[in-house]
Amino acid sequence: MRTSLPSHSQSWKLLFVTTPVGGLGTGLGGGVELSVYNIAKELIRRGHHLDIVAPTGSLWDEFNIVQIPGNLQTIAQSQQRTDPITLPANSLLANMWDYARQQQDHYDLIVNFAYDWLPFYLTPFFHTPIAHFVSMGSLSDALDQIIVQTAKKFPHTIGFYTPSQAATFPELTPPVYYLSSGIDLSLYEFCPHPKHQLAWLGRISPEKGLEDAVQAAQITQIPLKIMGKIQDQPYWEKIQQDYPNAPIEYLGFLSTQELQAVVRECQALLMTPRWIEAFGNVAIEALACGVPVISYSRGGPAEIIVEGKTGFIVPADSVTGLVAAIQKLDTIDRKDCRQSAEQEFSLDALGSRFENWFAQILQQWG
Ligand code: UDP
Repeated sequence: MRTSLPSHSQSWKLLFVTTPVGGLGTGLGGGVELSVYNIAKELIRRGHHLDIVAPTGSLWDEFNIVQIPGNLQTIAQSQQRTDPITLPANSLLANMWDYARQQQDHYDLIVNFAYDWLPFYLTPFFHTPIAHFVSMGSLSDALDQIIVQTAKKFPHTIGFYTPSQAATFPELTPPVYYLSSGIDLSLYEFCPHPKHQLAWLGRISPEKGLEDAVQAAQITQIPLKIMGKIQDQPYWEKIQQDYPNAPIEYLGFLSTQELQAVVRECQALLMTPRWIEAFGNVAIEALACGVPVISYSRGGPAEIIVEGKTGFIVPADSVTGLVAAIQKLDTIDRKDCRQSAEQEFSLDALGSRFENWFAQILQQWG
């Protein structure tokens, strides 16, 4: 049970502006959806007032959500680094920020969760401060440039998940904030005795490297439970064709409750990113169930996993490394996994990190 009192006695009026790539609760936004959910939940518990601007079709009903219509933004992962910035006609992203501009006087702080150029560009035109939570590593030259400019002009306003994610952006002016992530641990049940099976969780999209986990399942013949939004159907079909004998089962895009019920019965979670993973919410969800994490050494997971204690970090793109780590799983005490989630990734810890960050920004704008 969380008992700590709000560390900032003042109550703030906050406007969260979320990702324009899909409605909240659809899974299209990836891990940032769970992060927005948990940050919102904890800040409201601490007595702050919060409204969320989100795409029409958002599914959450426990928050004040302002649903905004418009055409979705293309995901940054599907574009080339040198591509120009584009917006569709009747842009959802533009509509969300037009709403924020009109309503800004009602808020102490606006928080941007979109991995997009426009909110950074608009920052100097607003008189209410904007905090930018950057949810992915560097993918676009134009976006890198505007993030670096914003960090310089508006100190304290840029937050990242992890140092290894921030390091992918060139020439950032400090201070830079590392907010990590956090989850409601009461929703994830500890399971001391797993079944003979492994888990893979996430958006099914090339940057997540699912094929390597499937190959590891084929080699070890340990069943692999796959859960997540299919974002790239041809990619998913190709994996099934390439590994016809892999013991895999796709369970769909599951709710947190359903997801943890499967994950907790697995021997390990496999994370096989091809990109520098900004954080990897799925890693802390697995740890919360007592499930060790085996991940490629690319970004956030290597900052979350304690080597040999809560999982194994293997060389990037090494399927033999995954297989060797799977064979060592009985050396892990699953209680250590749960304990590390409790110590570092609770909602309380998450709320304090965000409150401290927002307090710095508001003090600066004082
Ligand atoms: N997820 C989910 N249902 C599923 C599979 C995954 O809700 O069936 C969520 C999971 O809880 C996590 C997100 O998908 O919050 C994946 O986030 P992560 O940070 O691991 O990667 P990202 O998608 O941001 O690259």
